[in-house]
Amino acid sequence: MARYTGASCRLCRREGQKLFLKGERCYSNKCAIERRSYAPGMHGQQRKKLSEYGIQLREKQKAKRFYGVLESQFRKYYEMAIRRKGITGEILLQILESRLDNVVYRMGFGTSRAEARQLITHGHFLVNGKRVNIPSYLVREGDVVEVAEKSRKLERFKEILEVTGGRTVPKWLEVDHENMKGRVVTLPAREDIDLPIEEHLIVELYSK
Ligand code: SF4
Repeated sequence: MARYTGASCRLCRREGQKLFLKGERCYSNKCAIERRSYAPGMHGQQRKKLSEYGIQLREKQKAKRFYGVLESQFRKYYEMAIRRKGITGEILLQILESRLDNVVYRMGFGTSRAEARQLITHGHFLVNGKRVNIPSYLVREGDVVEVAEKSRKLERFKEILEVTGGRTVPKWLEVDHENMKGRVVTLPAREDIDLPIEEHLIVELYSK
C-alpha cells in the first residue's frame, strides 16, 4: 500500500476527530474539524450506522493515522504485541508510542509526527550518541534522544520549539529543550497515552 499523500485534514474528518496531523494548525481555529466536523465527500453529512466490523475497522484506521503507520507495519506491531506478555492492545499502543518519530514529536522537537518523521529521515537526531535516520526505530527505557550538534543552530528548530514549548511532555519522557535533548524514563503505560483509541477493538478485528 502506498503512503497516503492526500489532504491530512480529510483523514481527521473521516474519523470525526482531530488526529493532529498538521502541527500548529491543529491547535488553531483554522482546523478543518472545528469548521466541518462531518466526513468528507458527497455523503459525508449522512449518518451511517456502522456494523461491528465497521466500528473495529475505523478504530484501527484511526490508530494507524494517528501514528502515520501503513497497514503492513501496523500488522507487524500487532504480531509483536501478541508475542509479548500482557494485554495485547496496550502493548500494541506502547510499541507505537516507542517509535522514534512519536518520541521526537512528544518531546516537542517536531510540531507533528509527520514533521518529526521528516527531520529524522534528514539525519537531525541521535539516539545514545549515534545518528538514527529511521523513524520507525523503537526506543527503549533509558535511551537518550537529542538533536545532532550541527542541527541545533537551525532556524527550524528554534521555530519548532516556539510552537511546542508550551505543550505538556508526557511523564514517561524527560526533556531539556535548552540543550535539545531528552530521555526515555520508562516505556509508557496505557494511562500515559492520551489518545482516544479503543485498542481492544483493534485486537478483536485482527483476531477474527
Ligand atoms: Fe486534523 Fe490538524 Fe487538519 Fe485539524 S488541522 S483537521 S487536527 S490535520
